[in-house]
Amino acid sequence: MDETPPESRPVVVKPDRNRNAALADQALPELQAALGPNGCLSGEALTGIGPLSDSSGHAPDGLPLALLRPASVEDVAQALKICHCYKLPVVPQGGLTGLSGGANAGRREVALSMARFAGIESIDPVSATMTVRAGTVLETAQRAAEEAGFVLPIDLGARGTCQIGGVISTNAGGCRVVRYGTTRDNLLGLEAVTAQGQILSHLSRVTKDNTGYDLRHLFCGAEGTLGVVTRAVLRLWPRPAQRETALCAIDGFDQVVALLKRARKCLVLQAFEVMWRDHFVMSGGGSLFADPPPLAVLIEAEGDGLSAILEDAFASGEVTDALIAQSEADAQAFWAVRESRNPSQSLHDVLNLDVSLPISTMAGFVDDCGAAIRGLDPAADVYFFGHLGDGNLHVMARMPTLGAEGKAALQSFAYPLVRDREGSISAEHGIGTIKRDWLGLSRSEFEIAAMRGLKAAFDPQGLMNPGKLLPEAFSL
Ligand SMILES: Cc1cc2nc3c(=O)[nH]c(=O)nc-3n(C[C@H](O)[C@H](O)[C@H](O)COP(=O)(O)OP(=O)(O)OC[C@H]3O[C@@H](n4cnc5c(N)ncnc54)[C@H](O)[C@@H]3O)c2cc1C
Repeated sequence: MDETPPESRPVVVKPDRNRNAALADQALPELQAALGPNGCLSGEALTGIGPLSDSSGHAPDGLPLALLRPASVEDVAQALKICHCYKLPVVPQGGLTGLSGGANAGRREVALSMARFAGIESIDPVSATMTVRAGTVLETAQRAAEEAGFVLPIDLGARGTCQIGGVISTNAGGCRVVRYGTTRDNLLGLEAVTAQGQILSHLSRVTKDNTGYDLRHLFCGAEGTLGVVTRAVLRLWPRPAQRETALCAIDGFDQVVALLKRARKCLVLQAFEVMWRDHFVMSGGGSLFADPPPLAVLIEAEGDGLSAILEDAFASGEVTDALIAQSEADAQAFWAVRESRNPSQSLHDVLNLDVSLPISTMAGFVDDCGAAIRGLDPAADVYFFGHLGDGNLHVMARMPTLGAEGKAALQSFAYPLVRDREGSISAEHGIGTIKRDWLGLSRSEFEIAAMRGLKAAFDPQGLMNPGKLLPEAFSL
């Protein structure tokens, strides 16, 4: 059952700390001159300015050499040119809601936050597109789309903090993928700055654009390893005239699958989210039904057909009980359970897995994974939930007996189970540092070699977010 992480093939050259500090001493005055006093913070100015590491719970030891805060695309290009000249590694940062350690900058690295380059540049109601800056908070972009009569369909629990640049760089999924696809599917144009400070701009607003290699797709999901995303053109969708939301109590996984099939056939699904009992109760749903059911499903669908479908599902035994939202407040209350009422509390003391599986293999995975976790730590609490319509399962485990070693133990038995079922070890949170040594379970040797080739083409000195996604050489 137990498997050790596959060996990382490339040799990692340890940076020379003294040399790096000396280079930083020379580079910082240039960065300050280029970006202004608010654009380059270092030393004591870094304390008390808020979090500098992401939400993975894997904060690095110590503060970065500096925090760069460019306020324009030209600032980003200028900053990267200077860092390239002094061979300073750069870690792009968005809203720091990432769960894979991808945005964490070590003591010998420079963090580059896009927070000051925010805002909607334009909305084109005819093409149904939005041109937006990378530092814009997702919820701000969603509101702007709504005010213009559209939906920006990328949506996740961290919407109030995560930024468009981070969402693109992780190819975020979320709650609406079943209807609108992932971030990648809603990305029409992109602008990014490479490690050497070159601006690659292709802010296309057209859907059809077969003009060679698609750079936007390379940067989408690259986790900041190829360059800094600065602006994007996102696809907008018409707002559904009507939307219904229901929370269903279900006895077993086969019935969940039957309900999904029925709903896909008869409805335009907006969301199909599943919670196993322990997660449903932990998230505050326990009192919604007379007895907490083995499984609860949150369904959202366009139009007004959901009630009729649920009546049929009830008659055929797929659903044992259902609550249909009578107001937006009811719908929000159901979503509050699905997203956990206090997400920060639920995330900080738990170990988290985010995997994709063929839906037909999911129940077996839940059984095997739950049994293995409890075998490792009899005192463990295990919570399963996910965006089932997309085959995306999240596992949260509290393993008090194992403590810090729990994560490695959890990964070492769970990821091989995912591989054996032909799933993905990262459905939506990305690889970062946390899953880096497991990449070979989901990607072949040749694929990883091709990724290394692309990385070398955009970032020959390996300065963009080193040590993330690919366990690559880091030499100074
Ligand atoms: C409560 C909660 C719920 C969540 N739910 C979901 C969910 O449903 N679906 C989902 O997919 N994720 C989810 N996440 C994870 C997280 O919100 C996403 O990964 C999000 O896309 C990260 O965006 P961010 O701006 O916070 O990026 P960060 O955490 O700052 O960075 C993430 C990665 O992107 C890189 N990056 C950031 N900005 C840029 C840029 N401008 N250019 C280049 N690289 C950049 C960083 O270097 C890092 O590798 C959730 C997180 C939390 C805390």
